Amino acid sequence: MIIILEPSATTAQREELLGELKSRGYGIHLSEGVERTIVGVIGTPERDKEGLVEHFEALPYVERVIPILKPYKIVGKPFKPEGTVINVRGVQIGGGTLTVMAGPCTVESPEMLLETARTVKAKGAHILRGGAFKPSTSPYSFHGMGEAGLKLLAEARDETGLPIITEVMDTRDVEMVGRYTDIFQIGTRNMTNFSLLTEVGHARKPVMLKRGWASTIEEWLQAAEYIASQGNYEIILCERGIRTFETYTRNTFDINAIPAIKELSHLPIFADPSHATGKRSLVNAVSLGAVATGADGLIVETHPNPEKALKDGPQSLTFAQFDQLMHDVRPIAEAVGKRL
Ligand code: PEP
Ligand code: MN
Repeated sequence: MIIILEPSATTAQREELLGELKSRGYGIHLSEGVERTIVGVIGTPERDKEGLVEHFEALPYVERVIPILKPYKIVGKPFKPEGTVINVRGVQIGGGTLTVMAGPCTVESPEMLLETARTVKAKGAHILRGGAFKPSTSPYSFHGMGEAGLKLLAEARDETGLPIITEVMDTRDVEMVGRYTDIFQIGTRNMTNFSLLTEVGHARKPVMLKRGWASTIEEWLQAAEYIASQGNYEIILCERGIRTFETYTRNTFDINAIPAIKELSHLPIFADPSHATGKRSLVNAVSLGAVATGADGLIVETHPNPEKALKDGPQSLTFAQFDQLMHDVRPIAEAVGKRL
């Protein structure tokens, strides 16, 4: 359940309530909005809390108590109706801005990374993406540069000022990857890796959680709840396409997921048109559709020479195409009331 305090509730009253909840053995998650504080109370099946709703609602400093019957609670809309806003080194995510993350699928060399970072920055990107640990269907394909790739990402950040996002795949690497990255990316294959979700839940850095390619929206939100339940509320959801019977595209971009997440959750929602389509010719149009339906941001693969990319070349934009995308997305963002 969540307990919404009256705007006039004092600190002492709030502490009294938290004390009582703690003594009853509940887990407590606080959402402190501009107007009021919301207390998420976790730990007992909702049906056992029925009697407690009346008890807490009778307190003079409690405005309302809402039982949450959904399997995800902290990431559900009622916990933070005004929406989560994340600040990464001065770059805002959520809260009416459109944030663009761009870069190669994989860090390949210092030269290609720096060239990409400088170019996407000049064209208006806000965050640099790049994989150093790459999930691969084949054990024999390139798995990324590892820590050497993270060092290159950090150097590119130092030079351009762009914050960085990179994937972490293994619980044993979370601490080390966290020494370099500004945002952890959890890839589609690891959306249900619950020990990894728990580990990044302990980290004090934002996490982008990609949707599992065969996961429902509810399963995805429960995966986000794993992270939030450990105390890390800075989660960005990312729709990157799901697997359907269609084979023309690499995946099927579930555009429904964008407004659906807006309805169900307060977390920012991004779109990854690169993995969703697998084809660079479709990335622009799908990006515009995602922004028109309410996405808070895009994560797009871009490469200095996509034909030569070690990974995901067919879906990587050329610099000219990225430039076109940044140009085309602006009027759509403005039409839906977002700042680019
Ligand atoms: C990626 O971003 O390069 C990636 C591997 O993404 P996904 O996990 O969505 O396939
Ligand atoms: Mn990729």
